[in-house]
Amino acid sequence: MTTTKSDPWIPFHKIVQDPWSKIIQEKKDTGVKVIGHILPDVPEELIHASGAIPFALAGAGISINLAQAKIPSYSCSHVMGALELQLKSMLDFLDGIIIPYVCDTTRNLYHLWRNVFPDVPTEFLRLPKKVADPDASRYLHEEYIRISKWLNGITEREIDENSLTRAISVYSKSRDQLKSAYFKMQRSPETWSAHRVISLFESSLRIPREDHLELMTYLPWTVPDEKISDRARIYVRGKVWDPPEITKLFDELGFVLVGDEIVTGFRSVMVNAIIQEDLVQSLVDRHMSTVPYTGYYTDPRKMVEDFVERIRSCGAEGVIFLNPKFCEAAASCCYEKPYALKKNNIPNLILETSSRGTSTSQIRLRLEAFKEILTDDLP
Ligand code: SF4
Repeated sequence: MTTTKSDPWIPFHKIVQDPWSKIIQEKKDTGVKVIGHILPDVPEELIHASGAIPFALAGAGISINLAQAKIPSYSCSHVMGALELQLKSMLDFLDGIIIPYVCDTTRNLYHLWRNVFPDVPTEFLRLPKKVADPDASRYLHEEYIRISKWLNGITEREIDENSLTRAISVYSKSRDQLKSAYFKMQRSPETWSAHRVISLFESSLRIPREDHLELMTYLPWTVPDEKISDRARIYVRGKVWDPPEITKLFDELGFVLVGDEIVTGFRSVMVNAIIQEDLVQSLVDRHMSTVPYTGYYTDPRKMVEDFVERIRSCGAEGVIFLNPKFCEAAASCCYEKPYALKKNNIPNLILETSSRGTSTSQIRLRLEAFKEILTDDLP
């Protein structure tokens, strides 16, 4: 990879490696408020519209020293890592934090956060788990209004029609650009490697979106398509890119990502909010149309059928499940989905990952073996 000063990928890699410096500087320079949100599914548009910068928190890759004294050691790395950061005072620049209810672990995390850090303004976004329930949309609308009022209290700025329209437009534009980058990766995976493209996604969640959009204009959009015949086309399901080096492994081992449901991957950009009279409803509709996160419920048979259809429609030759260790929700969907894939002759690999004890070399070995299975199957 080129690493000259003019390398347009460097700013994104820098933000991924050090997500703190730029946002702390921004806050010093402008006095803007910064609201942290645990992934997934906190609507960044609401935070943006309140005048604050949303800053995504994920715990993958954080080495744990202090958090185990506060939360059961069988908690996933994502909540452990986020807690570790706060315990190490690395999140002191945040003006507030939103924790979404996606599972019992995040619910516990919310109560714990309130107790351990009583001075940190903390809110709980009670996302509906039964997303197919007829009342889920109305309920979520009320919940977004409640969170908006909480945000207004922190930033002392009203979320109004103008600010929300602006936020929705900025985020839609950014998602469209990220989507273009993702498709570029499939056509030119040497230049637009998974490691580079996913760094665009990861960094977009940690700096002002407008700045990120501008940085993306310097990318090599006009590079001609490359030959990709020897690459294995994969689809990935999981929470975040964990271990963080996994995208580098995909590149090195000759995989090409054609789809994923990772919350810092394609899932985060697949649906835009469509502007309508009720702008909060636009965000609700976006959430409801997004691929359900692990642990959300819809009709179980339909969930599996839709999953297989998504894989078929992007032409994936194999599926990788990146399952966070100690995540019951991820483990529970690892029976029917792999079974359905087997019935459809789509090979799959289940990797259990954790920043406590997952060896990258072991993952590499398993990916190498999986690549062999996929390329042997090629005509
Ligand atoms: S759903 Fe799983 S990975 Fe996500 S926060 Fe809960 S336990 Fe962790």
